[in-house]
Amino acid sequence: MTALKLYNSLTRSKDVFTPIDPRSVRMYVCGPTVYDRAHIGNARPVIVFDLLFRLLRHVYGAEHVTYVRNITDVDDKINARAAERGITIRQLTEETANGFHRDVAELGALRPSVEPRATEFICRGGDDLDMVKLVERLIARGHAYEADGHVLFDVASMPAYGKLARRSLDEMEAGARVEVASYKKGPMDFVLWKPSKQGEPAWDSPWGQGRPGWHLECSAMSAALLGEVFDIHGGGIDLIFPHHENEIAQSTCCFGQERMANVWMHNGFLQVEGEKMSKSLGNFVTIREVLADWPGDVARLAMLSAHYRQPINWTLKGLQEAEKTLGVWFDAAASDAEARPAPGVVEALADDLNTPRMIAEIHRLRTEGGRKALAGTLAFLGFRPDVYEDWKTERAPQAGLPVEEIERLIDARLAARREKDFAEADRIRDELLAAGVTLRDGAGGTTWEVAR
Ligand code: AMP
Ligand code: ZN
Repeated sequence: MTALKLYNSLTRSKDVFTPIDPRSVRMYVCGPTVYDRAHIGNARPVIVFDLLFRLLRHVYGAEHVTYVRNITDVDDKINARAAERGITIRQLTEETANGFHRDVAELGALRPSVEPRATEFICRGGDDLDMVKLVERLIARGHAYEADGHVLFDVASMPAYGKLARRSLDEMEAGARVEVASYKKGPMDFVLWKPSKQGEPAWDSPWGQGRPGWHLECSAMSAALLGEVFDIHGGGIDLIFPHHENEIAQSTCCFGQERMANVWMHNGFLQVEGEKMSKSLGNFVTIREVLADWPGDVARLAMLSAHYRQPINWTLKGLQEAEKTLGVWFDAAASDAEARPAPGVVEALADDLNTPRMIAEIHRLRTEGGRKALAGTLAFLGFRPDVYEDWKTERAPQAGLPVEEIERLIDARLAARREKDFAEADRIRDELLAAGVTLRDGAGGTTWEVAR
């Protein structure tokens, strides 16, 4: 097989991927904050890194790959939403996490090997690594300080701070518009631990009852589950700064390692009319809403139609095209086959997950590769023929007219054309179109199909 190449945000280049240990390939991806239904933009990293997970399992063997995706179940947005709805934090996070799992399963994503919840890694007791111990070590090593009940990371203590985002500390400080809390030594110092007020979730710590800052959880969970240095760390491009920069600061300073992960991968934004889809802009569609109208496999293919580092516009046209393409593929594929990717598809994916090339390869496979190879490839990619069949029979659009009536109108139109009454012929074509029926005139006569 050709070498696997991945674009690394750290080096800003597409490099050959060499795992630390090919018998234990380790990947961490930042998962959802569970306060509300995920939107279809949140599904992009899920689908992209699911594809990478499948590729790594193919290349190194399923038993040699560990994929960790966390669930953030401690966050101020969660506290606020639970209070608003009058339910407990646990009820809200359980309900939202369950919904997330249903959504992404329908999108054809495999369950990651481990899905740790942040709250389980705050304070674990014994010698197990957790967030409290990580903060203690950072203080002991001179990278963090306590101030006014908070513990802050001292960015000035780390010369390499800003390397991933390629920003210098001076630039960042000059540009810092956030109001700087008086207890901070430097404006870019970030919170590792903060005190909880009455009624807020709180854990015991050497700094009093409190809770962790957001970035801390990923450093603790990745180290506990994958080790101090692992292979791949992923997430959306908006996480590069400050989230991933701060994860790197915490982990490398705590463990005295040069790196946290060797390869950093970031998916581009899913956009609506040129803007990032996000909860705060209010321009979002939930995964659930998309799945009410489309089978998950169609949404999955639409998502993969653009390369993962490029922005993707989420449009009805994109979904319609994906639906048509999947129909063509499934009609040509054998009804069952073991999941096995065709070599051309593996090669396309090994080139930094080049999904547009992968799609072109599948088209080629359809005409040249045979029904079994096509079916095996689709199964490997997470496309399910049964889901598609159900969709075709249950939800495929129906014409607004009975078939006999459509055929009678087609005959009447042909008769009008023979008599050169083109106005009448066009009128009949429009009448059919209004009922959702499109006509195609060919050498063998006129055929019709129901358009969406
Ligand atoms: P959040 O719950 O906001 O932390 O987001 C969860 C994941 O979804 C992160 O990896 C984000 O980078 C990613 N994400 C959020 N919005 C978008 C978007 N519009 N397009 C692509 N990825 C996104
Ligand atoms: Zn993270």
